[in-house]
Amino acid sequence: MEKMTTQETITELSQKPSIYSLQLSELKEWLKEQNEKAFRAEQIFDWLYKKRVSDFAQMSNLSKNLRDMLSEHFTLTTLNTIIKQESADGTIKFLFELHDGYSIETVLMRHDYGNSVCVTTQVGCRIGCTFCASTLGGLKRHLEAGEIVSQVVKVQQALDETEERVSSVVIMGIGEPFDNFDNMLSFLKIINHDQGLNIGARHITVSTSGIIPKIYQFADENMQINFAISLHAPNTELRSRLMPINKAYKLPDLMEAVRYYINKTGRRVSFEYGLFGGVNDQVEHAKELASLIKDVKCHVNLIPVNYVPERDYVRTPRDQIFLFEKTLKDAGVNVTIRREQGSDIDAACGQLRAKERKEETR
Ligand code: SF4
Repeated sequence: MEKMTTQETITELSQKPSIYSLQLSELKEWLKEQNEKAFRAEQIFDWLYKKRVSDFAQMSNLSKNLRDMLSEHFTLTTLNTIIKQESADGTIKFLFELHDGYSIETVLMRHDYGNSVCVTTQVGCRIGCTFCASTLGGLKRHLEAGEIVSQVVKVQQALDETEERVSSVVIMGIGEPFDNFDNMLSFLKIINHDQGLNIGARHITVSTSGIIPKIYQFADENMQINFAISLHAPNTELRSRLMPINKAYKLPDLMEAVRYYINKTGRRVSFEYGLFGGVNDQVEHAKELASLIKDVKCHVNLIPVNYVPERDYVRTPRDQIFLFEKTLKDAGVNVTIRREQGSDIDAACGQLRAKERKEETR
């Protein structure tokens, strides 16, 4: 584990808005208000996202006056790296401190198809899934769009040292992204913009526990990004036990919203299904799940969950995992067992807590 001793200190973090919160169009508006030319916005984006400078003073093709105005109004140092911890398989966890002293975790995962960053969208979370040990303290606050964008920029800056690139982003860290919808949407637009980080829509995945009105709103945005639902149960009663959000947004209504999304975007969805020993992992649950999603264009990710110390959940035995998978396959469901990878972040919604491990389920 590497403790950071850079010049970054929390005292340098400012409460000025982060420039990373601005979409290109918003930056153009701001420039117009300052009687500056709109094309400067493209130059600034280039410095932020292509050259990835860490000081406005480095933006050498801008006038001194504009650089001073930028630093008077905005901050570039949104996150302070406290810890950078690397697993044997190359996974890197970053602990970042925010301007108000809260800290958040961001994870870089290495895959054979590229480098993926898992971002956090809130400090804490109010959804209260019963298997989630990391958010027992509830929601502290939403992250600004710039605080989410900065997570990706910070990881990319770390990769710059080895000339690697962030190729995909998953919004599955702590927090419910659709509970911080506007900031999440700005984040998506900034990282997807070809003059921003230029991460293709199909290389971005967002996962929700099922805030139904926001699923409709998201569908209407028609962004073509990958969309995952944390399902975890095949019926209302069991889902309400695992995920209290199901009491407010019930399973049949959730499935209707999912169908709307598919019709609107033409894309399939992924259902994340954590297997909890003796709770939702029996053959009858698999059959019920197959029936629930039989006419839905989808893929199911099975996530074997390890023992959760703060909860009573235990791991599903290996044979049972394969039996569950086979039952779904026999029913015609497109299903995979998620390969477990180097840390506790590779689970639905980021928070199906498990011990650090490196093994494959098959
Ligand atoms: S699993 Fe995700 S949505 Fe559920 S409480 Fe944890 S962070 Fe929130």
